[in-house]
Amino acid sequence: MRKCLRCGSDMKEDCALKIEGSGNAIILSTDTGDSSIFHGKIGKPKVAICPFCGEVSFYTDELKKL
Ligand SMILES: [Zn+2]
Repeated sequence: MRKCLRCGSDMKEDCALKIEGSGNAIILSTDTGDSSIFHGKIGKPKVAICPFCGEVSFYTDELKKL
């Protein structure tokens, strides 16, 4: 279980990040260069939310790609 960095409570995991409006997806990548968008692509970030203090953490479970 993921613990909140701020208050140490159990966080609600496996939440999705949704972008209203544009429809553009957010992806995680190990490649910081702008030219090769698909190189080093890891996947979509997952979100954990603390139900007590509202802290939001991004994480990925695609660790084998890192
Ligand atoms: Zn918290």
